Amino acid sequence: MRHRGLLAVGLGALTLALAAPVGASPPPSPSTSSPPAPTTTSPAPTTSTTPTPAAPTTTPATGAVPGPSSPGSAPPSLDTTTTTAPPDLVPPRLRVRVTHPHFSPNGDRVREKVFLALHADEAVTVDITIRNAANTARKVLHLTLGPGDQTVTWGGRIQRANGSWGRAADGDYTVKLVARDAAGNKTKKLRTVTVDTRPPSFAWTGITPDPWGATGAVTYSFVSHDASPPLSVQGTASSRVGLIDRSSRVSRPQGAVRLAWRPDEPDGSVLLPGNYFGAVRVTDDAGNALTSPFRAYRVDRPVSSVAVRRADGAGNRVAVTFDDCNDGAAWSSILGTLRAYGAGGTFFCPGDQVYAHPAQAQATVAAGHSVGSHSNGHAQLTRLSYGEVAGRLAIDKAAWWSVARATPTPYFRPPYGSYNSTVLAAAGDQGFRYTVIWDVDPTDYASPGAGVIASRVLGAVRPGSIVLLHVKGQTAAALPTILSGLRARGLQPVTLAQLFAANGWR
Ligand SMILES: [Zn+2]
Repeated sequence: MRHRGLLAVGLGALTLALAAPVGASPPPSPSTSSPPAPTTTSPAPTTSTTPTPAAPTTTPATGAVPGPSSPGSAPPSLDTTTTTAPPDLVPPRLRVRVTHPHFSPNGDRVREKVFLALHADEAVTVDITIRNAANTARKVLHLTLGPGDQTVTWGGRIQRANGSWGRAADGDYTVKLVARDAAGNKTKKLRTVTVDTRPPSFAWTGITPDPWGATGAVTYSFVSHDASPPLSVQGTASSRVGLIDRSSRVSRPQGAVRLAWRPDEPDGSVLLPGNYFGAVRVTDDAGNALTSPFRAYRVDRPVSSVAVRRADGAGNRVAVTFDDCNDGAAWSSILGTLRAYGAGGTFFCPGDQVYAHPAQAQATVAAGHSVGSHSNGHAQLTRLSYGEVAGRLAIDKAAWWSVARATPTPYFRPPYGSYNSTVLAAAGDQGFRYTVIWDVDPTDYASPGAGVIASRVLGAVRPGSIVLLHVKGQTAAALPTILSGLRARGLQPVTLAQLFAANGWR
């Protein structure tokens, strides 16, 4: 029968947790009915053998009681030197296992300690010296061990040359262990542990293919370095409205990393065409994590286009939309008013106007508004061939991507609201899931005056409305009245992406 004792001894910043058989042979007398206390701060003999005096501690800053000096009921020949016993010339066997050499003692409760699992084949004293590479900071501790197992933890406190104690700086630390048996035979072991409290570095390389067809895999490429490889990597895909999907966690060496995966819609279906945003969470082996900045990418694939006029299931939300984008000053004014009112908007711009007003196009995307295609050249599309319509929509997609790293898909508004089956087929094949018409039209293009525009909008708008406006001076002047009037009616002006998401459309 083995008699196990469990001792936890605090040594300053060091904690020894002892769960070791203290008697390798049956104890000479039956143990008492009450087991030894599970934790104690004084040496607690758990066998009938007399404990040897506590080993002198030379750890300067702790001054605490040394580890339990319980050699156990080791064979008498090892305990005492007799003239009849043969000399012990065999050094002790000491096994040292560092389960996780990278740790981060920064107080965030993730990998705060490093664990040294020790095993000796006979009773030994062990001197442990932890020091930094420059040997300007160290920690010394002494313990008695076994035979058996004992785990030593280090929480990252260290004593500097001037005598002060503090958290060990980031870097590698050498752990030297010297085990001595009763006969004075020595065994030495060296291990390295790493204090790393810094998260990995991160730099995007790209997201490919561009555009992505949403079948097969999309690849997030980036460069990440860290003192504690390997890295645990998880990708996310978000839309303008929120998180869409996450990849599984994978382990990668540091350096150039490629994460290939296939984000899907939350219901498992293939992603719709449109804007998506990749991000990566990178966690090092010491538990320090970094979340990357978002990187925009686009999904493009053929879909069938449906014409929509309003969103009945979107609660109190409405979409205020602005067409044509041909007046830079009005466009800037509208953006400023939307920002001042905390309102979302949507801009349907022909590609030539995106190229003509890059600053406004970029500011629109940066503010999180929705953007759509209005067909390059603003033609009456029902008079054009399938190929001509498709070509004008393709120009809009290229314009938004090259100017603002955005795609107008899946939103398309035909000039004059006029479309036929050919226009719908071309729009769908170009990735425009929604051909967006409207249910409120104040005819602001005829310049009836800002007051008239505002009163017409506010007289007709209702929950779920899509309001047709244009990027014009009078409309810009009417916008503060429109937005405050919507609020007064309990209506929330949001982007088309938000309106559709609230309506259950993607
Ligand atoms: Zn127009």
